[in-house]
Amino acid sequence: DVHIRIRGLTKTYRSKTGAVPSLKPIDLDIAKGEFVAIVGPSGCGKSTLLKLVAGLLPATSGSIRIGGVEVDKPIDDIGIVFQSPVLLPWRSVRDNILLQVQMRGRDTAAYAKAADTLIKTSGLEGFENRYPWELSGGMQQRASICRALVHDPSVLLMDEPFGALDAMTRERMNAELQRIWYETRKTVLLITHSIPEAVYLADRVVVMSSRPGAIEAIYDIDLRRP
Ligand code: ADP
Ligand code: ADP
Repeated sequence: DVHIRIRGLTKTYRSKTGAVPSLKPIDLDIAKGEFVAIVGPSGCGKSTLLKLVAGLLPATSGSIRIGGVEVDKPIDDIGIVFQSPVLLPWRSVRDNILLQVQMRGRDTAAYAKAADTLIKTSGLEGFENRYPWELSGGMQQRASICRALVHDPSVLLMDEPFGALDAMTRERMNAELQRIWYETRKTVLLITHSIPEAVYLADRVVVMSSRPGAIEAIYDIDLRRP
């Protein structure tokens, strides 16, 4: 049951100094509910791939389909988490989580319950009316994961979500992410620099090589989860 189908996907950034090919043709199928980790050296095109899947960047050629629908603009059915939480400092944690719904042109009142449930399950209860700068880095990143999930997207995209956190917090966040995945079975694409993290969390690990966009190997992690 293919959820994300990527065919012949390329991206060339145009700049004053010329064209920068950043993604060689990529073919990749991701099944519904699968957890895929993407690893590879800096500059190999991991972030570019994720932004293309999110519809945040136009592809130069090729195609991406999510649930059979061509991605050619920012799509509603995804949640995205970046390395830094990018929460608005003048909005409470709860408002930051709900703002994402508002920006999608939906009625925030209908998502209040979902926001409260996420706040509770991610251990942010009691902090929902605080401002982001009152929270630790780990708590801010938990808030940004809540924000990505509040509209219940079927795809969760994460670009080095825990890269800026200390090792202890990172381990806790990994456990947290695993819990979310067990409970919701979303299709997850995670970029990470940590191979242990990739192997611990993912069903499949896609290794990209330093040649921009080339996929070097795809490992299926044998230990199938219940
Ligand atoms: P990674 O996430 O694996 O570090 P990126 O997708 O960020 O790689 O970058 C892939 C390549 O594309 C790099 O060579 C990078 O310099 C280039 N690149 C990324 N974003 C831009 C941009 N906005 N304009 C021009 N080149 C870019
Ligand atoms: P994380 O590892 O998620 O960043 P911390 O280890 O910094 O979290 O904090 C652990 C606990 O300490 C939090 O769950 C929270 O209860 C409390 N805490 C963290 N930051 C604050 C804060 N700014 N104000 C009050 N309590 C906090």
